[in-house]
Amino acid sequence: MKIFNTLSRRKEEFVPLEDGKVRMYVCGPTVYNLIHIGNARPMIVFDTVRRYMEYKGYEVNYVSNFTDVDDKIIKKAIEEGVSAQEISERYIDECKKDMEGMNILPATTHPKATEEIQGMIDMIQTLIDKGYAYAAEDGTVYFRVKNFKEYGKLSHKNLDDLQSGFRALKVSGEEQKEDELDFVLWKPKKEGEPYWESPWCEGRPGWHIECSVMSKKYLGEQIDIHAGGEDLIFPHHENEIAQSECCNGKIFAKYWMHNAFLNIDNKKMSKSLGNFRTVREISQQYDLQVLRFFMLSAHYRSPLNFSADLMEASKNALERIRECAGRLQDKKQANQEPLSQEEKELLEKAGAYVTKFEEAMDDDFNTADAIAAVFELVKFSNTNVKEDSSGAFADGLLEILKKLCDVLGIITEKKEEMLDKEIEDLIEERQEARKAKNFARADEIRDELLKKGILLKDTREGVKWQRV
Ligand code: AMP
Ligand code: ZN
Repeated sequence: MKIFNTLSRRKEEFVPLEDGKVRMYVCGPTVYNLIHIGNARPMIVFDTVRRYMEYKGYEVNYVSNFTDVDDKIIKKAIEEGVSAQEISERYIDECKKDMEGMNILPATTHPKATEEIQGMIDMIQTLIDKGYAYAAEDGTVYFRVKNFKEYGKLSHKNLDDLQSGFRALKVSGEEQKEDELDFVLWKPKKEGEPYWESPWCEGRPGWHIECSVMSKKYLGEQIDIHAGGEDLIFPHHENEIAQSECCNGKIFAKYWMHNAFLNIDNKKMSKSLGNFRTVREISQQYDLQVLRFFMLSAHYRSPLNFSADLMEASKNALERIRECAGRLQDKKQANQEPLSQEEKELLEKAGAYVTKFEEAMDDDFNTADAIAAVFELVKFSNTNVKEDSSGAFADGLLEILKKLCDVLGIITEKKEEMLDKEIEDLIEERQEARKAKNFARADEIRDELLKKGILLKDTREGVKWQRV
């Protein structure tokens, strides 16, 4: 299996640190809002990497954090007049719902920054003790970049270029830094912000330190794969390397993987341009499996453009796979006939598509080519399963199709359509739960319905529902 390593800018053979095991860390979202479809790209891509590793027989320890203390969270909390914790907990819950809709496996561990503060203080102290960090007069702690000779190795920037870039960019409030390149590990609290006690001042951690600490705690000092979107290469991942390698005296991650960005209508997707779409909005128009399929239809290192046309194409493609699976399922149940000699040979032939699929995935997770192999299998099935085919033949092909789709996280069964009566009964139960102030049950019913593709809208005329 080959992985493109941002560190070497080459595809390298994957050799795990420990036989049969993979330790993997993926930087997760900052939780101050519903996640957008850009955030969904690394989630889907690296979930697929994980699934493929598991398919190959590796035991995968997969850690992905939630950044739950940050300026944007605090700003939102102030706007709403609630605590930062209330904001982050709300959006962690919402994020988990979206993840489930996209069929993203829960991580082995989903640590939260605010629950790992002591570990961060300990690592910062070690860095100070080793001469890699210093506390300024106001209690801000900075990382001393010049003391880490390999700084810049991931982003392939050299220190001199970085230095001249920074000189032009004076940041106020950072006059106490020894050097422009130094970055914050710990900062003093501001009025109204959450804070923690520390040896330097009451305050909170800088952003980068959390990942170094959580990765070490849940995966060990050295890990196989560290991943995230390409915007994280610099400075976030570069700083993580500096912190971890200076603290532990060991190479931090062996392979660094980065997904390219998701654009929208060929423009950068951003809040300021207003062309920003949440996963939740998409879920009201499409089964989120369509979004997943769309994301995997391109190689993860190629920029991908989100458009209505491409989503429609993905919807149709997914439908073709599901129709084929449905036909195979019907055929499988239609008779108990064993395989004929000819069918046995055909099944062996179908094995070629599995090989093709694996070759594509082994080549730096080329999901676009892997999907092409799935479609060849679909075509093969449609051509070779006939009126008089045996149930065993259909079953054999269905198993292969499901196995491959499962690696991609694609569900081959059509969503079970709920009957109108069942929906209305649940809505009735929800209304009663609300009357009884049992909001937990009411929310549970709403979520249960959403999972089955039924969206509720509370209107002045009562509850309305639609299939999405
Ligand atoms: P954030 O919440 O901004 O820290 O982002 C969480 C993850 O989403 C990071 O891995 C980002 O690199 C990734 N990300 C954000 N926007 C996009 C985008 N438009 N396309 C692909 N990945 C993105
Ligand atoms: Zn990170």
